[in-house]
Amino acid sequence: MINTRINELISYAQKNLYLGIDDDYYAVNRILYLLKLNKFTKEEITEEVDFFETMEAILDYAVENNDIESDTVIARDAFEGKIVDCLLPRPSELTRMFKQKYKTGPLTATNFFHDLSVKTNYIKTIRIAKNIKYKYEGKYAPLEITINLSKPEKDPKDILAQSKILDKYPTCPLCMENEGVYQATSLAPRSNHRVISLTLNHEKDVWGMQYSPYAYFPEHTIVLRKDHSPMYVNERSFAELVDFINKFPHYLIGSNAGLPIVGGSILGHHHFQGGKYDFPIEKAEVLRKYKKRKVTIEVLNWPMSVIRVSSNNENALLDQVGDIFKAWQNYNNDKLNIFKETDHPHNTITPILKLNGAQYEFYMVLRNNYSTEDKPYGWYHPREEYFHIKKENIGLIEVMGLAILPGRLVKELELIEDCLVNNTNPIKYPELEKHLPWIETLKEENIDLENIQDTLKQRVGEIFEKVLEDCNVFKHGSIEDLYRFVEKII
Ligand SMILES: [Zn+2]
Repeated sequence: MINTRINELISYAQKNLYLGIDDDYYAVNRILYLLKLNKFTKEEITEEVDFFETMEAILDYAVENNDIESDTVIARDAFEGKIVDCLLPRPSELTRMFKQKYKTGPLTATNFFHDLSVKTNYIKTIRIAKNIKYKYEGKYAPLEITINLSKPEKDPKDILAQSKILDKYPTCPLCMENEGVYQATSLAPRSNHRVISLTLNHEKDVWGMQYSPYAYFPEHTIVLRKDHSPMYVNERSFAELVDFINKFPHYLIGSNAGLPIVGGSILGHHHFQGGKYDFPIEKAEVLRKYKKRKVTIEVLNWPMSVIRVSSNNENALLDQVGDIFKAWQNYNNDKLNIFKETDHPHNTITPILKLNGAQYEFYMVLRNNYSTEDKPYGWYHPREEYFHIKKENIGLIEVMGLAILPGRLVKELELIEDCLVNNTNPIKYPELEKHLPWIETLKEENIDLENIQDTLKQRVGEIFEKVLEDCNVFKHGSIEDLYRFVEKII
């Protein structure tokens, strides 16, 4: 019965979500309002509560009683978030708790916040587990491929409802306005969304930290400025990254490049992404190594041009990184089609920072977004013949060797398998239209049909590697130019 389910939820929240013992009726009454109920009887819950089972039952009840706009995954998610919000500490209380935990240590603090974000089902662990993950043993290091099956597809009903929203609020998905907002059409429910307030680079409580609901790697964190102001990549952001690592030395942190095409999908709101994970780029071999007084500079063997600057001295690191960045901003090479600017700047970097013992390791991935009429996506973007696998910007996560590929590929690879094994004409499947040239190539090559699924996965990995190579500013054959660039600075 619904009364028992509410009791279960309260029991769960007291054990897992820091619901205070005196807050139970307060929380219950807020839930009753959402479910349009006017009565509640306390029951003793002795068994361990399965959050998902209890929540599903409550959501089914809400659908039956028309408390939810529609019975879509997204609308149910939004309502679930709203119910969980009734049980959670307010944002400022949570920040206070986080800061208290931080006194024990940064790991204790992030464990606390991450664990809570999982237990509220804000981080969609069950859906994330559906993602298909595998390795591709490429030329540089084993690359990691993820086919993303965790994000729910928008139902046409959700899209229609969203199209009726005139005023954009929140301004963007990273704005603080998202904290607690109820929107039945939002891809990620926000009512149970919490942001921890942070001080970075001497800006007190100007920053926020949250987890990604559809994490691409463990403890996928987003660090954002609280105000909606554009992305920047420069000496200031490098100092911000270093300060974050000083405060959370067990995490990696990086930023997307701040320019269109080579940047991430949200350029309007300054933010970083990080987490607790070892990325393939860390396994890259060193092609050349230069030693300066307190820093080591290495050119890595990677599909993109990467300079790694290491030091255990924060200032020496930031000075060296700043010098390389300035030199790159002013770098031109007509022969290689690298133009620092036309009517706007083109050279930037994707910066990533991690600690290796006591040593900061700053990865500077050189980027350029120069585009022409015949190359509207830019000279350093995946070429069009690979768009059937990856068309989107190559951002921070991909640069590090982890591909995030669209969920549609699962079905499409199955259909391609059918075409290759059973000689089915791919024209039969409209969704294969974009893959037709690739299917032709695979047929001509007489690929191994015995292990067709693995073969196709590996071929997808190979395309991802080529896509990264396409984004390389110093393409194959021009590595000497990269060495010359580095040697001139140091
Ligand atoms: Zn914003």
